Amino acid sequence: MAVTGLRIGVVGGSIAGCAAAIAGARAGADVTVHERSGAALQDRGFGIVIPPSLHRELVTGGYLGPDMPTTPVATRIWLTRVSGGRSSRELARQEAPVTSCNWGLLWRALRANVGESVYRRGLPVDSVGRTPSGRALIRTEDGEQEYDIVVGADGHRSVTRGLIAPNVRPVPAGYLVWRGTIPLSALRDHPKPLELLRSSWITLGFPGGHGVFYLIPGTVPGSRLLAYAIYGFPPKPTESQVPVSTAYVRYIAEEHFPAEWADIVARGEHAAQALHPVADFVVPRAAEPPFLLAGDAASVTRPHTASGAVKALGDALCLERALRGSSSAAEALVRYADERSAEGARLVELGRRLGRELVECTPDWPAMGPADVDAWSRGTLNGARSYLYGSMHRR
Ligand SMILES: Cc1cc2nc3c(=O)[nH]c(=O)nc-3n(C[C@H](O)[C@H](O)[C@H](O)COP(=O)(O)OP(=O)(O)OC[C@H]3O[C@@H](n4cnc5c(N)ncnc54)[C@H](O)[C@@H]3O)c2cc1C
Repeated sequence: MAVTGLRIGVVGGSIAGCAAAIAGARAGADVTVHERSGAALQDRGFGIVIPPSLHRELVTGGYLGPDMPTTPVATRIWLTRVSGGRSSRELARQEAPVTSCNWGLLWRALRANVGESVYRRGLPVDSVGRTPSGRALIRTEDGEQEYDIVVGADGHRSVTRGLIAPNVRPVPAGYLVWRGTIPLSALRDHPKPLELLRSSWITLGFPGGHGVFYLIPGTVPGSRLLAYAIYGFPPKPTESQVPVSTAYVRYIAEEHFPAEWADIVARGEHAAQALHPVADFVVPRAAEPPFLLAGDAASVTRPHTASGAVKALGDALCLERALRGSSSAAEALVRYADERSAEGARLVELGRRLGRELVECTPDWPAMGPADVDAWSRGTLNGARSYLYGSMHRR
């Protein structure tokens, strides 16, 4: 029997927070979202990919409108620069369908399904706590609010996690990711890459790192942006005069990419750009009644898995199922923790394995062909599932 009449407070109103709010409301709870930022989050114009099956489930389930722009592609193409030259060589093609999204448009689509009065923004949650009777408290400048469940969807520096898993700390990978978007005008003189990108997403391997490229919808209807994530180590101080900044990605591209891809990254006017140290962590339990953690608050995996938003959305679907299938809030949270703690740990482990093989100990890409890439993919996954390696799971 489904638990009814619950009050749920959500800390954070980004991807995980909006999705959890929709989940709670769909299961019949009275939900309030507390978002620190006063501004709309839709301007974070980065690219993310999600599995097409998850996208369909979210549309069918009423989390996303069918009109959210996406740029689905079915194929993954592996490229590298030829040995001793500057031209590009295709190593392999794999069937690996992804639904590419603009992070901001995804947020906007979720936000549209969270009622206006439910979403309180511009006021940070200072702390969370418990009442003497064991209910959850959210404290803001405006006072205290009592809830049956508090969802910590407040990102990788979560105050909610600080209460239930205070000893969990991010583990640095030692390398960096440059992430950004480039207007399609940067591809004007590069018809070949543009043709590949219309049907595929690209992994470009180089010694000590790799880049991922794919098209995403822009905010102007019908427009497209080129999204990228490029991974590599920062230079040792003696190795480079170029400071490690967002602009350093252009240096990496010049140094390692085939000429036309280097030109796209080096000359493109980056519409959005960020530099993050890569790190990960996972909480031992994703819920401790009356609190639960969702999205990056519960775990952050190295981005090679492309699964942070995917996990946040899966967390929400799980929360809805758990609330509908339980007779108390505590029972729902135990169910949630049983399922989602394991998924967080699995993804962190997979991210480490992918990071080792794609950045820390890269293979000799120019020496490889389709069979080598398939064998390398299988060896790297070591039995783990990842939608980014779709066809590897079917043979
Ligand atoms: C390079 C890179 C590539 C990625 N690619 C993908 C991909 O392809 N696919 C994918 O699924 N994921 C991807 N991700 C991960 C994904 O972007 C994140 O996991 C996801 O956006 C996290 O959402 P979230 O809501 O958990 O956290 P956040 O977006 O960080 O949101 C946390 C929210 O909580 C609010 N907040 C924080 N503290 C408080 C407080 N005290 N009070 C009130 N509000 C508070 C913040 O303002 C913010 O709005 C990628 C990440 C990186 C770095």
